[in-house]
Amino acid sequence: MTTIIKNTTIVTGDAHRTLLYGSAIVIEDERISELGDSEEIESRYPAAEILDGRGKAVFPGLVNCHTHLLAVTDRGILEDFGFPTTLAFPVTGRSMLTPDERKVMALLAAVEAIRSGTTCLLEISSNIPEYADELAGTGLRLVLAENINDFDEEEARRGSYRFLEDKLDAGLQRSIDLIEKWHGRENNRVTCFVAPHAPENCSPNLLRHSREIADERGLGYTIHLSQSHIEIEAVMRTRGVRPTQYLFANGLLGPRLVAAHCRYVDASEIALLGQTGSAVSNNAAIAARRGAAAPAKEILDAGCNMGMGTDNMAEDMVEVMRTGLFAERVRRNDEMHPGPEDVLEWATSGGARALGMGDSIGSLEAGMKADLFMVDVMRAHLVPTNRIVSSFVHQGQPADITDVMVDGRWLMRDSKIKTIDEADIVRQAERIGHAAWSRVIEKYPDVPFPIRLPPRPLGD
Ligand SMILES: [Zn+2]
Repeated sequence: MTTIIKNTTIVTGDAHRTLLYGSAIVIEDERISELGDSEEIESRYPAAEILDGRGKAVFPGLVNCHTHLLAVTDRGILEDFGFPTTLAFPVTGRSMLTPDERKVMALLAAVEAIRSGTTCLLEISSNIPEYADELAGTGLRLVLAENINDFDEEEARRGSYRFLEDKLDAGLQRSIDLIEKWHGRENNRVTCFVAPHAPENCSPNLLRHSREIADERGLGYTIHLSQSHIEIEAVMRTRGVRPTQYLFANGLLGPRLVAAHCRYVDASEIALLGQTGSAVSNNAAIAARRGAAAPAKEILDAGCNMGMGTDNMAEDMVEVMRTGLFAERVRRNDEMHPGPEDVLEWATSGGARALGMGDSIGSLEAGMKADLFMVDVMRAHLVPTNRIVSSFVHQGQPADITDVMVDGRWLMRDSKIKTIDEADIVRQAERIGHAAWSRVIEKYPDVPFPIRLPPRPLGD
């Protein structure tokens, strides 16, 4: 099967940041086979399916290096009450979902991901097998990781840390089960990582075993790092060192680690991340919502690979790119840096390298997998398009994205998602989200809640 998008603008995302105008991109099966002059290419492929890409620009698909899809259930609530949340419930709406409801919410998040140009995402959760079939059916490129920890949650609420061997064993087993069932499926479109959750709630044993499981299988692994002041305080108190130093002492840093967040890392921690070749996921939008920004320049200068991620309550990578640019300019009081091309690189090839996929995704070049999205540039907020990457990063919206392809297969064509019944999922998700938070309130009637939920789901 050969598909050609012709007469289009191609943002290759290659090492020279080459832009091609009036050009064609040839996709054979799951890979890009060549790029070049539209007329010349068209004449050589008489049997190909040809799309006219006039008025559109083709971008490399966005790579989300850190997300929890089911957190969309907590949208509109957890953005505004701090982290860890200041709401006094011991659970959130997300944790009240039934297995069937989880499937719907995972698909809701996948709709948002596809609509915002995401082609690959790293999903971290503690019940992935329950919705992995549905997720694989969306056509997205997936890296799946079971979220594991071995701390006693009750004790931790009282401020002390105790670690449980049973929990450690069960978590490692969940990880291995997921890997054995899913790694390499769908022509390698679905792969797996290992995901010890965070420094304060993982024992040295759990960190070391996680690394071993990953090393034995040649997999990557990920952890939350320097996400909150509470984490830093807890690790300093229980381990006597800062969180990155604790991971270093227990063998977790290295080129196959994606350290998510790194908001409050100090110079010594950044140096350790750089020296060990660790990668960082800069989750700029959720960080900004929590009043923080990762030190992107220092992380990159130290030699780390940096990708971007959405984390919680949203899957919009367009927003993540723009927030990443704004937050870093504000943090550095710098009117020019980073540039939009830098941020696009973080969200594409940077993320691909972080996930160990730098040689197959992240740019539009011959031999790479055909993971891409198309932007309708003929929009009031995008023209004139004298610098299309700048226009899209500064002014673009997910609704400008009309087509998304992963592995040579269209997940969205002409603004319609082909792999998910979007209208049905949105309708169901509105009801489920309302019901889940209603259950939280009913279960804990004595906990004050500063929000009044609507009397019924808004779609009803
Ligand atoms: Zn997270």
